[in-house]
Amino acid sequence: MARYTPMIKQYLSIKANHPDAFLFFRLGDFYEMFFEDAIKAAEELEITLTSRDGGKEKIPMCGVPYHSAEVYIQRLIEKGYRVAICEQVEDPASAKGVVRREVVRVITPGTVMEEKMLTEKENNFLVGLTCRQENFALAACDLSTGEFYVTEVTGGPEAVIDELAAYQPKEVLLNSHLDQDVAFKEHLKLRLGALITVLHSEENSMKEVRSTLQERFPDYREVLTTSLLEEVAGLLLAYLHQTQKRALAHMNRIERYDAARFMVLDASARQTLELTRSLREGKKAGSLLGLLDRTATAMGSRLLKKWLDKPLLDIREIEERQDAVESLVNQLLLLEDIHDRLKGVYDLERLSARIAYGTANARDLLALCRSLEMIPDLKECLKNSGSNALKRIAEKLDPLTDVQEQIEQSISEDAPTGLKEGRLVKEGYDEELDRLREIQRNGKTWITRLEQREREETGIKSLKVGFNKVFGYYIEVTKANLRHLPEGRYQRKQTLANAERFITQELKEQERLILEAEEKSVELEYQLFAEIREQIAGKIPRIQRLADQISRLDALHSFAAVSEKNHYVRPKVANDHRIYIEKGRHPVVESALNEGEFVPNDTHMEAGQVLLITGPNMAGKSTYMRQVALMTLMAQVGCFVPANRAEIGLIDRIFTRIGAADDLVGGRSTFMVEMDETRLALSQATSRSLLLLDEVGRGTSTYDGMALAQAIVEYIHDHVGAKTLFSTHYHELTRLDEDLDRVVNVHARCVEKEGKVVFLHKLERGGADKSYGIHVAQLAGMPDQVIQRSQGLLEMLEGRMQSASTGQLDLFSFGAPSQTNAPIHPREAEVLDAIRKWDLLHHTPIDTIRF
Ligand code: ADP
Repeated sequence: MARYTPMIKQYLSIKANHPDAFLFFRLGDFYEMFFEDAIKAAEELEITLTSRDGGKEKIPMCGVPYHSAEVYIQRLIEKGYRVAICEQVEDPASAKGVVRREVVRVITPGTVMEEKMLTEKENNFLVGLTCRQENFALAACDLSTGEFYVTEVTGGPEAVIDELAAYQPKEVLLNSHLDQDVAFKEHLKLRLGALITVLHSEENSMKEVRSTLQERFPDYREVLTTSLLEEVAGLLLAYLHQTQKRALAHMNRIERYDAARFMVLDASARQTLELTRSLREGKKAGSLLGLLDRTATAMGSRLLKKWLDKPLLDIREIEERQDAVESLVNQLLLLEDIHDRLKGVYDLERLSARIAYGTANARDLLALCRSLEMIPDLKECLKNSGSNALKRIAEKLDPLTDVQEQIEQSISEDAPTGLKEGRLVKEGYDEELDRLREIQRNGKTWITRLEQREREETGIKSLKVGFNKVFGYYIEVTKANLRHLPEGRYQRKQTLANAERFITQELKEQERLILEAEEKSVELEYQLFAEIREQIAGKIPRIQRLADQISRLDALHSFAAVSEKNHYVRPKVANDHRIYIEKGRHPVVESALNEGEFVPNDTHMEAGQVLLITGPNMAGKSTYMRQVALMTLMAQVGCFVPANRAEIGLIDRIFTRIGAADDLVGGRSTFMVEMDETRLALSQATSRSLLLLDEVGRGTSTYDGMALAQAIVEYIHDHVGAKTLFSTHYHELTRLDEDLDRVVNVHARCVEKEGKVVFLHKLERGGADKSYGIHVAQLAGMPDQVIQRSQGLLEMLEGRMQSASTGQLDLFSFGAPSQTNAPIHPREAEVLDAIRKWDLLHHTPIDTIRF
């Protein structure tokens, strides 16, 4: 250390406090990185690695220009790194020795504020977790919008990870206690892919936590009623404090919610029901959110996503949303009017965050002003709607006339984005500024007059007065005209190829006045602007309340617009166990088809009913199951549903086991995932839950699978009592309705036409008689040889079953072929043996077909 230069010593001591971040060390017009940081950054950012004499040795160095640093920071953040910004905090001119430097902010994936690094219609959540025994507390905040939520989660690590997943956090903060739980951390990493940051508890003892909370949220005790909640909120705040190093006036409320107030959707259910992302492409398009989001503002869009993530369990709350949606669906013109007005409202949440953060510019304030101008009209529209639900929203809309007028009077309409170039503040707003501007104007008039006078007196018509940054104001005379210029009239300053530039004493005097006034006015404008921004920052809570109401109106308007367009109906939600749907449709599948192509289906389910759905592949079984789940979900977020009529008994949780989702990263086979998800459903479902089980048991051998499937149906029927949609290929299960009184068979109807199967997509009572598996293979273009051979085999197997079972009725009296008495050809025995030994789980379907 002793032999490093003083600056490198300074670097090293600052870097020691930020070992896990790239340290952007300000050196003049550059941010430089040294040592390991430099090597890694050069690689990640593809910039040149150089070196610098550090005193003792040459040290690796790389740098990015100050003015374009944002792009580089963005790249590092997107790759999941942290960046500490270290600035010169004193004027280099007056510094003795090395200029003092300090880290002014640490940017991390969960704390970005820059517009370019944020996605407009998505939140950017930082989530903190703490745990005591099996109890977890979770705090989630979005620095870019000012939201701050806390909740306690019981149900162990699985439940907390599910709750976390709903936030899709960019960064997860753990206390040191959780940091030691290696298994939990691994699980978290696998499931979320977010950056994990650990904050050691000794750094924020409870006492400090309380004082931080007290300072920011004086009445925090009303919300954070347990020490675990205090701890988690404190953890998050401590981290914000450490990284942001500034007041965050927009983080002014903590909202505590009870996870039991909402329908529970675990990560797997969210995924299979394609709530916010499609399964195939992982995009919003093709998901339920993609369909329902017709919002006009980014904040409305973010709220709508939050609503879908947390369907309600309270009838009153649901009906309040439905009332508003209904009023809008019935008044098309009003719907359009509202849309037009909302379009003019900017992202008030992020605007107020920038105002509080001190990064809002004049254009941001103008955007706020334009948005506020929309409010009176919007209020009027809602008040005249004749709908009480809409009137209630209107009453809560605060047009913030004071703020709107303040901006209107002060900020210049054509203000630039920069804050150090002037032109920010309007004429007439500040006397001193007006005076300084007057000086500039007078000076310029004086110069114009001077030009005029000199032209006349010298007779040189092309004489002109110009300005440049190096020489200031000058008088320019072309070479050709120099001879007309009386000797000694001006002072020579600069010679160009075909002109000479001169100055005079009085011109320089005027210049001094103009430039001084200009410099002062730019500085004054900046100060005035900062004051205005500061005053508006004091009104942020009101802006945020307005933002809440606008987002809500926008989300409701979006529900209404989609419901109206697609002919959805208002469902009746009730506190009972019934689901009654007349001509229901799958909202997303329907929207991808031409009008009238989707075949609607009814659903009638009473308490504890198990619908056993049979029918060939591609007949529409899983579409039907999903549509029932999606309709309950849509009903519980307050949207209308795709049906002719619907009554929905509230569902507390949806469990899904659909499709062959291999958890390759998690290292679990398809069958293991299948069993795990089914276990979860059996152990946690209540009589109010909805279970979707799609072909459970198919991941193992037929008899195993069939046995498991039957046992699972029986268990649900006898012990769980949840409404269940259970699709299966095992036709033998359809006989379960004889013994289990709440099992009802339905099948997806198909007909055979000229040897080909035609799917009607119509669900009918009773079980299916055939699987049509071979027909489906034929439709998929399987070689004729395979089709014919499988038909032959099928006939043989069916014949054997019949002769072996001698009219048996009991499912489990089907033995494996080797246990039947039918004589087996030795070659056939060999083949069967090879088939039995074939390891299905470790071969692809194509391998298996070839085999
Ligand atoms: P299964 O689960 O029985 O294999 P799916 O539910 O996956 O069948 O449906 C297969 C395809 O059939 C879907 O992708 C969809 O395009 C179409 N489909 C399903 N249900 C309907 C319906 N009710 N009306 C029109 N098309 C449907």
